[in-house]
Amino acid sequence: MPETGVTFADVAEADQAKLELQEVVDFLKNPVKYTALGAKIPKGCLLVGPPCTGKTLLARAVAGEAGVPFFSSAASEFVELFVGVGASRVRDLFDKAKSKAPCIVFIDEIDAVRRQRGAGLDTVSLFSTEMDGFYGNSGVIVLAATNRPDVLDAALLTPGRFDRQVTVDRPEVAGRVKILQVHSRGKALAKDVDFGKIARRTLGFTGADLQNLMNEAAILAARRELKEINKDEISDALERIIAGPEMKNAVVSDEKEKLVAYHEAGRALVGALMPEYDPVAKISIIPRGQAGVLTLFAPSEERLESGLYSRSYLENQMAVTHGGRIAEEVIFGKENVTTGASNDFMRVSWVARQMVERFGFSKKIGQVAIGGGGGNPFLGPQMSLQKDYSMETADVVDAEVRDLVETAYSRAKQIITTHIDILHKLAQLLIEKGTVDGEEFMSLFIDGKAELYVS
Ligand code: ADP
Ligand code: MG
Repeated sequence: MPETGVTFADVAEADQAKLELQEVVDFLKNPVKYTALGAKIPKGCLLVGPPCTGKTLLARAVAGEAGVPFFSSAASEFVELFVGVGASRVRDLFDKAKSKAPCIVFIDEIDAVRRQRGAGLDTVSLFSTEMDGFYGNSGVIVLAATNRPDVLDAALLTPGRFDRQVTVDRPEVAGRVKILQVHSRGKALAKDVDFGKIARRTLGFTGADLQNLMNEAAILAARRELKEINKDEISDALERIIAGPEMKNAVVSDEKEKLVAYHEAGRALVGALMPEYDPVAKISIIPRGQAGVLTLFAPSEERLESGLYSRSYLENQMAVTHGGRIAEEVIFGKENVTTGASNDFMRVSWVARQMVERFGFSKKIGQVAIGGGGGNPFLGPQMSLQKDYSMETADVVDAEVRDLVETAYSRAKQIITTHIDILHKLAQLLIEKGTVDGEEFMSLFIDGKAELYVS
């Protein structure tokens, strides 16, 4: 079993996680220091965080730092139709580990380990038995990863099992800069590449996303016969990743094309007329991978710097998202609204709920974060199902959310109906050209005499 060769230097950011895991490294390197004082070395540590944020990488780095073997398995391998097979795999893994101690056993997606009704030996008890069975300080430390701590079996979290937790989250701007630096090692970068700028354009990207971005940029540069990766390659790679590659020859029916053109025109129109919203950089109906088409807004430097989203920004964003659906409704009728538009509607509702439950943007609820079950705000929509407030509060929250969604809807609708001439012109232009840039779009307003929307 070779050592991983990965160290903490390969994990950018995640300083808190590294600090906590440093302790595990220390246990593995100097067990006597602890046992001499009668300390029990912990057996298990849970790494909690969204996918692709570096949990596996961290586990490998712990083994690398300590210079010990690394045994890795996915929990799903133990969850077999025939319990006996899963059970013998668990025993096998732990037997091997014990014979190579000190070492790390890594279990990915530990949440797959569930209690199976009726099965005499379920995987939860198997794991518990194995971990309880390390006699004293055996030198085996189990690291396990999950992005669903909410469904973990409580038995796994009792003392003497996975009684420590380390949280890894999506990186902030500064963290994204550091991760980009790590994944630029060994790549030829031009001087015009500014990691700060890239980091600000990659809100929500994980470490794996950023690694992929740098790799795609390098591939593009090679394809363009360049000696270095320039900022253009990175920009193009980013656009590709966000929107999928352009599919210039995709066959689209005229009817579909018209629908899409009005949808995008509606979003762009509402966006352009919202006070203090990001300017429209580009509107395109050329089909792109899964994300379909796109309207790119160029976020202001100021907001990118601060990373803060104000109440009015989010209200505007909801109105813009509604814009596509409303344009479809107005032109083709409510019954012909596309599934893309329904997804938009769900997104708006989600943003509204975040505003009320998390950001304290509701007067009735006030400045408190009330949703999300506490502790794991990064896990996305599925987690917000878990409520920790009363039924009465839930009614107020629902009413506030509905109010935000409806206000955004009527603001967007007013813009579209009062500027329907521009909507038609823009949609027409999109059907003709496929792509319209910000300047061309603005020139439509000069002819159309549109005024800035004021709420
Ligand atoms: P997870 O186990 O959380 O799903 P991984 O550890 O498999 O995520 O991450 C996938 C890849 O993404 C890593 O191999 C690494 O290249 C990159 N990555 C993720 N987080 C970081 C980070 N903090 N620093 C550097 N690279 C990272
Ligand atoms: Mg992983």
